[in-house]
Amino acid sequence: MTWPTEVLLPLLEQAAARGLALIKIHGHRGYDQFSSIDDISDRALFPSVYSWVDATEPHASVIVLDSGRMFGRVVSNVGEFTDLACINLVGDDLQFWYPNEIGGKTPEYGTRIAQAFGERTYDCLSRLRIAVVGCSGTGSHVIEQLARNCVGELVLVDPDVVEEKNLNRILNSGMADAEAGRSKVAVAEDAIKKMRLGTRVKVFRENLFSADVIKAVAECDIVFGCVDTVDARHLLNKLCSFYLVPYFDLGVRLDADGNGGVDQVCGTVHYLQPGGSSLFSRGVYSMEQLRAAGLFRTNPSAYRTQLDEGYIKGIPENRPAVVQVNGLIASLAINELLARLHPYRLDPNGEFAVHRISLSHAIYEHETGGDSCTMMSRHIGRGDTDPLLDWAELSSTREAA
Ligand SMILES: [Zn+2]
Repeated sequence: MTWPTEVLLPLLEQAAARGLALIKIHGHRGYDQFSSIDDISDRALFPSVYSWVDATEPHASVIVLDSGRMFGRVVSNVGEFTDLACINLVGDDLQFWYPNEIGGKTPEYGTRIAQAFGERTYDCLSRLRIAVVGCSGTGSHVIEQLARNCVGELVLVDPDVVEEKNLNRILNSGMADAEAGRSKVAVAEDAIKKMRLGTRVKVFRENLFSADVIKAVAECDIVFGCVDTVDARHLLNKLCSFYLVPYFDLGVRLDADGNGGVDQVCGTVHYLQPGGSSLFSRGVYSMEQLRAAGLFRTNPSAYRTQLDEGYIKGIPENRPAVVQVNGLIASLAINELLARLHPYRLDPNGEFAVHRISLSHAIYEHETGGDSCTMMSRHIGRGDTDPLLDWAELSSTREAA
């Protein structure tokens, strides 16, 4: 097969201008490796790609088989090949391809998962690296279920310690943890290690708004956001666009008057994919709420002043929360992940971008995500930038100062 290299010129210009990688993709019918002709052609093409783009970032060559499976390799500026460790296809369905089989027998603790969703899905779960941001009420259920589904690695982020007021809803926590002021991530890490189901754990007892944490979360295959502030949700949605990571957002809301009167018990699970709609375009929050949340976090006294003077609307603080609602929404989100890894529903996954449950109003509905978000779409695949995610607080020069 031959093709005119002129088609490359506009792509190379774009790659050079935006610091992007060029990926050459071609198809094979059944032949599941690079041929000697591919080797010759890649070695002829890529050195000139590097010199044109004039950057050190790698470029790659990928083959698609008729089954849809993909595999590929980075081709260096001198024509050396290195297999891509994984190819992630992030759409309504989630597909992950690895160059090698794990092989061996499924351990006893994995057999029930394999029975339900097949060896391939079990194998995939055991290789995934998943971030859980927010390890409190909802997050602790998400962590529990991911670990019991034998995911390969969990990256846990939460700056807080367990307090007595949390004990009604954080799984695996007890009074001794509150008395000792143990961090929520340490409690979760202990519980996962005690299971011994093969899950590795990395913990960050830190706020999400730090460069180290953002980089660690960006290296994950999937992100679960169990946070209740709109600025953290906005940041995670941006991260999903910059780093092409699928993002599950969980929200739980309980409106009560503090004296036993309950107006609303509801929860949502949003699935966000790069290039699709966003929490913002779905109307989860407004720019004004985003600004108020940022001010509350970075400058509490200015927040109070603006609130008192009526310039901003207050953000909700210390909302009531109960274990059974958190567990319900977390279960819904984990089921959503499994349905996207291993599609089993009658309707296509695109119909399930949002799940909404209201226990007070007896509603369970699901819907599509709507039009693509123009604000997020322009960040697709930008990867590392300075400041990270174009977020002024994450600037490296600012940190140095
Ligand atoms: Zn070929």
